[in-house]
Amino acid sequence: MGLFVLVPAAGRGERLAAGRPKQYLPLAGRPMLWHVLRALCVPAVDQVFVVLAPNDEEYARNDWSEFGARVQPLYCGGATRSESVRNGLVAASSAVLPDDWVLVHDAARPCLCTADLERLIAACAADRVGGLLAVPVCDTVKRAAEDESGLLRALGTEERASLWLAQTPQMFRAGLLVHALARAGHGATDEASAVEALGLRPRLVAGARANLKVTFPEDVALAEAILAAR
Ligand code: C5P
Repeated sequence: MGLFVLVPAAGRGERLAAGRPKQYLPLAGRPMLWHVLRALCVPAVDQVFVVLAPNDEEYARNDWSEFGARVQPLYCGGATRSESVRNGLVAASSAVLPDDWVLVHDAARPCLCTADLERLIAACAADRVGGLLAVPVCDTVKRAAEDESGLLRALGTEERASLWLAQTPQMFRAGLLVHALARAGHGATDEASAVEALGLRPRLVAGARANLKVTFPEDVALAEAILAAR
């Protein structure tokens, strides 16, 4: 059984306002995508496909040679993350069989550590559905709404005991992923939600809070500090 990775990296990173797609933002002297690829190129992985925007010019300006032929760019990103993943699965379909495993990992999560990746692979390879890295919610969670003056107010407090935050990688068989994402359309913000919509229950594998998604400007310094501490 093959084990492949798909990295959706076709976003524009507008919330980061860094003036360039965030996957190329320098972190500890290297582009964010370099840290992502270094984390993902473990021996168990056959190939890593990076889904880029069709007009991406920055990938080719960087040197990825240390990863060799294991890393393949696919210039087929779509308008949304789920469309990029679906397009990537189609573009990779000559190499990836329906029963092969696919790990989808955000290009915006450069602090994934090898131990968590390997635990996820071990847990999901033995599972009939697949699963994802996630962390339990530790803050008290409020449901919010604007009042008549436009001020944000807490409407109530959610029961947090059974709430987890979904991270990536998310690992499913290629055939299931293609089917689930086609059924979910544009609504799915991750692969697991598309699989859940089929009535299946993905495994939650406890990950680390350090595997944050770099989204807002303040996340950049945090990611750099985490990488520097390793
Ligand atoms: O924007 P957000 O942080 O949710 O993006 C998560 C991941 O999805 C990023 O790696 C981003 O590059 C990718 N993405 C994509 N195609 C899009 C939008 C986002 O590949 N159209």
